[in-house]
Amino acid sequence: MRILAITNQKGGVGKTTTCVNLAASLAATKRKVLVIDLDPQGNATTGCGIDKSKMQHTIYHVLIGEKSLRDVMQRSERGRFDVVPANRELAGAEVELVNEFARETRLKSALAELGDDYDYVLIDCPPALNLTTVNALTAAHAVMIPMQCEYYALEGLSDLVNTIKKVRAHLNPHLEIEGLLRTLFDNRNTLAQQVSHELAQHFGDKVYRTVIPRNIRLAEAPSYGVPVLLHDKASKGAKAYLALAGEIINRHIVSNRQVAAN
Ligand code: ADP
Ligand code: MG
Repeated sequence: MRILAITNQKGGVGKTTTCVNLAASLAATKRKVLVIDLDPQGNATTGCGIDKSKMQHTIYHVLIGEKSLRDVMQRSERGRFDVVPANRELAGAEVELVNEFARETRLKSALAELGDDYDYVLIDCPPALNLTTVNALTAAHAVMIPMQCEYYALEGLSDLVNTIKKVRAHLNPHLEIEGLLRTLFDNRNTLAQQVSHELAQHFGDKVYRTVIPRNIRLAEAPSYGVPVLLHDKASKGAKAYLALAGEIINRHIVSNRQVAAN
């Protein structure tokens, strides 16, 4: 089981879109996938075709210790993966957990109960470096950082990298940066090309080769409650997320081989 936290404290960079569509693409290659919605906006929940207003129990109840992940899990029938939903109630957890014991490790403990049921767990983080995000970083093996190639992108990245370092020092020593994903990419934009180039220079192999283009089908799919693969599987967006799934699976195989060889 590989647990990936999809994080960037900026909103609108494609975290949720990546979470839902990567989940569907990994599921399409017969991987067992669980999506955990960790944003009170509940966009990943809706994007997977689940009505968040009808949810009795959500990730909030898991974090406050009333339910297990299995208790609150739903099936995204069309996406063929499981989803732990969220809604606005989750915002309350930030405050309620402040004085609680083991507040940073709630999600990690909940995930430990799942054993090896899944190949991939994808956690959709909120646009903040708060306790909820720290729970994701503490539970994860690695972080995936979607980013738009614009002027301020690199500035925000250093705050995120510092948070990752702190989590490593105190809570999760093996946390890795899995990769940086260029999203909402417009190849005709010179600034985007420059920033993309800078990213590659700074972070080398950590930048996924796959680039997610700006594609209207990706923006439309959530209004049908389906991943883009089910909305328009021939679209550029669908192809890009399938390619990303392939790249992630390959990286995983290569790093497992390296571990075996050592
Ligand atoms: P985040 O979760 O980081 O806030 P979202 O995934 O919700 O970002 O994306 C923000 C908005 O941009 C949404 O309306 C989404 O549909 C749209 N969007 C995301 N990625 C793309 C893309 N590659 N092409 C077109 N629209 C996109
Ligand atoms: Mg989001």
